[in-house]
Amino acid sequence: MKPETKKDIRSLSLEDLRLFFTENHDQAFRGNQVYQWLWQKGIHNFEGMTNLSKSTRSLLETHFVINHIDIDQQQKSNDGTIKNAVKLHDNLVVESVLIPTATRTTACVSSQVGCSLDCKFCATAKIKRMRNLNADEIYDQVVAMDQQSRLYFDRPLSNIVFMGMGEPLMNYKNLINAIDKITQSEGLGMSPSRITVSTSGIPKMMMKMADDQVRFGLAVSLHSARQELRQQLMPFAEKFPLNDLVDAIKYWHEKTAKPVTYEYVVWKGINDGDEDINALVDFCKISPCKVNLIEYNPIGDDQFLQADKDRIQAYESALEAERITVTVRRSRGKDIDAACGQLANKAEGE
Ligand code: SAH
Repeated sequence: MKPETKKDIRSLSLEDLRLFFTENHDQAFRGNQVYQWLWQKGIHNFEGMTNLSKSTRSLLETHFVINHIDIDQQQKSNDGTIKNAVKLHDNLVVESVLIPTATRTTACVSSQVGCSLDCKFCATAKIKRMRNLNADEIYDQVVAMDQQSRLYFDRPLSNIVFMGMGEPLMNYKNLINAIDKITQSEGLGMSPSRITVSTSGIPKMMMKMADDQVRFGLAVSLHSARQELRQQLMPFAEKFPLNDLVDAIKYWHEKTAKPVTYEYVVWKGINDGDEDINALVDFCKISPCKVNLIEYNPIGDDQFLQADKDRIQAYESALEAERITVTVRRSRGKDIDAACGQLANKAEGE
């Protein structure tokens, strides 16, 4: 078989692999062995699969390739954050970020090359969506950062957030497939409760997630609870209005009994007025939630400026007065453009 017609073996499910072996007059459990090499041991070549006979390995070699990511470049922030430029088999690049704190190491993972959404304040939005990542490309980022976490911080990865490049719910199938491998015992065996998927708010897909009874957490990038303003900040939101978002959030809670986390950046003169605060407080009363106020990370656009401290404090006080859990998320990795919304393949041009 010509190399270009060979299939990526990592696109096969465990069932597919078992079937491949029975169709090739071997035993189905060989499929389990190969699956373990691919997903538990992270082997990227057939020779390394040492419990298979030479002829089995060459059979695999004839039919398949193993595509995998390469960490092309690594930058370390003075706060310990590590940004990885991740090269894909077709030479496109995405970024993944490892964020250590005193008690955790969190991996911020990308789901698409670029993004099809158009949030005005986000650097990734400036690159058009080139393609979705495959499940294995999502999974590999996590494996690579788990290894980095062990190497640099002497502990395994504790948390995963899908807050890197792209909109995870617009690559739903591959996202779910990757999370299955991250959580199953043949993969990394991580608890789904340590995983958060962040969406800019795609109601239909949020409902699908609720129907699928997923066990990971959901965060929604809200940024304004006023339709008109939200639509200016995130123009795609015209098609996904707050009313529909509310329905999806209620449905999520009904089906999963989980709260949703709202991500919210406060910008000076844009959404820092009392009417913005009141709208958010009202919005939060609709369904159980937490609010994460995020520090703005500049992307070289003067129209957006971090709000004054007293306005952020005003948000905190108003939410706390209604017993809504609120945290302020300090920016990490800003000096290396690794912070939220700053991921834009700068490494590519360097
Ligand atoms: N598309 C998904 C996930 C990627 S963005 C989503 O929108 O949720 C991850 C988070 O970073 C989102 O909450 C997003 O609104 C926020 N973000 C984007 N640009 C930012 C910036 N310049 N400063 C701070 N946060 C930003």
